[in-house]
Amino acid sequence: MIRLDRDKIGEAGSQTILAEAAEILRRGGLVIFPTETVYGLGGNATDPAAAKAIYAAKGRPADNPLIIHIEKPEDAGTYTYTNDTYRRIAEAFMPGPITVILRARDNIPVETRAGLPTVAVRCPKDEIARALIGKCGFPIAAPSANLSGSPSPTNARHVADDMNGRVDMIIDGGECEIGLESTIVKIEEDGSLTLLRPGRITPEELRAAVGQVRIASAVTAELRPGEVALSPGMKYRHYAPKSPVILLDGSLAACVDFIRREGKSNAAAIAYSEDVEILRAAFPELTVYAFGEKGDEAAQAHNLFFILREADKRDHSVIYAPLPKRSGMGLALYNRMIRAAAHHIVSL
Ligand code: AMP
Ligand code: MG
Repeated sequence: MIRLDRDKIGEAGSQTILAEAAEILRRGGLVIFPTETVYGLGGNATDPAAAKAIYAAKGRPADNPLIIHIEKPEDAGTYTYTNDTYRRIAEAFMPGPITVILRARDNIPVETRAGLPTVAVRCPKDEIARALIGKCGFPIAAPSANLSGSPSPTNARHVADDMNGRVDMIIDGGECEIGLESTIVKIEEDGSLTLLRPGRITPEELRAAVGQVRIASAVTAELRPGEVALSPGMKYRHYAPKSPVILLDGSLAACVDFIRREGKSNAAAIAYSEDVEILRAAFPELTVYAFGEKGDEAAQAHNLFFILREADKRDHSVIYAPLPKRSGMGLALYNRMIRAAAHHIVSL
């Protein structure tokens, strides 16, 4: 694991580390690097063997395609067929926490896109990520740097917990600013847009940039038996800690009553900061994780995966958490948390 400071990125020491990382990638190796969303497990996106190595390191099913990371929004045209909608999205949000799905050109191997005719493209804002892609001169395929099925890592310690010994290099760039994976949108050939995975960029912001946005039903609902996921990753139990998670939809008083009735030992709760002390006073044995203030969804997003991974180390019998609203960035929290809870919601 090598530490890299964003404010020293121009210095010789940092440039040497980045050059070494680029060389590892060029030779077909794997490098984990920070982005503004979560840490990515990177390989050369134009190298079929590197794509296979990524799947093996993560234990990821080979039918779940990878996101390719480019240095500049214009580079998308080299690897995909872009259109006007892409240009509007790029102008409004790139570089930034958004991934677009477009028809792929032949220079992206089928291994990277898991056999699909399309490929997911992202231009990250994080300076370490951009500097690394720039040094490579080829796009970096990078899914989140966790073992398949676990919550995405948002700091280098959580990366190492899953990935030590499985990759050639880990770049430690501190805590990820956003802490939730990118917003994923599919751009159809007719220019229309479908939201496949919500993130920091909200449906409201997307509508302001391009007009109409369809929201895939799997964003908020369980897939029906036999239904095909528009985004292969949506069909997997995802973001899930080992302990069962139960989402509580009700007032604090109703939640307190419910937790008391259940009477579980070694239970935990994820609570809005305002409610932390009240819960601790009511249940001295309960482990309470501070989620962030009510209404501060950016803080909650930043904390969610960190909390889920910390909670995982304590073998809780159950983790109670509040059910987020579905508006704004709340939709991204809702989408991740219903998966962490395997859709277990209790209305109080
Ligand atoms: P991760 O890399 O772990 O953030 O996950 C990437 C997500 O993007 C997964 O849910 C994939 O299924 C999805 N994805 C990647 N490429 C495509 C594609 N061509 N079409 C639809 N979804 C995709
Ligand atoms: Mg992932």
